[in-house]
Amino acid sequence: MASPPPQPPSTPHYSTLPSLFPLTGGCVCRKIRYTILAAPLAVNCCHCRWCQRETGASFALNAILEAQHVRHAPSPAAQPILSTIPSVSGAGQTLARCLDCGVVMWSNYAFHGPLTRIVRVGTLDEPDALRPDAHIFTESKQPWVELSGERAFVGYYDVEKVWRRESLERLEVLKPEVERWRRETGGKKMDALGG
Ligand SMILES: [Zn+2]
Ligand SMILES: [Zn+2]
Repeated sequence: MASPPPQPPSTPHYSTLPSLFPLTGGCVCRKIRYTILAAPLAVNCCHCRWCQRETGASFALNAILEAQHVRHAPSPAAQPILSTIPSVSGAGQTLARCLDCGVVMWSNYAFHGPLTRIVRVGTLDEPDALRPDAHIFTESKQPWVELSGERAFVGYYDVEKVWRRESLERLEVLKPEVERWRRETGGKKMDALGG
């Protein structure tokens, strides 16, 4: 299926560098630290208005991983607070935020519920490690952001055509769990994750 997008020779695609992982990250005050154990399923640079507003910037850089591949300390003192906010789809997005410094480290979207975590690449200790596979919602891209030869989509994309074969295989493993979550919660609304 889709192969990794073309990259300059100096920056091999993260999926070709197993020694890159685990990657660590966390909030500004370091109360919450997390570890990414595997290569992301995909990394999206999202130019939608919601991401611009949430980050106060021009886009969000999001690494999608199975929730089991994003670990954080289990101690109660190091738990993020969860809040659900609107999203482009209307189904909502649940943000995981440090209570003390307020930084959002990851979120969950309705398409996979709690089974994936969407990690904000800027909170990694080495944010340069994960460059985007695709730019999405470029319909609201700020005009000064120039994309040269990178994969870009006006809205979202067909995952089957963009994700690496390995990612699609990992997604197949997740699907029964996602379906179970949808059945148990009676829908796709992120309110089901709790607040
Ligand atoms: Zn913090
Ligand atoms: Zn967005």
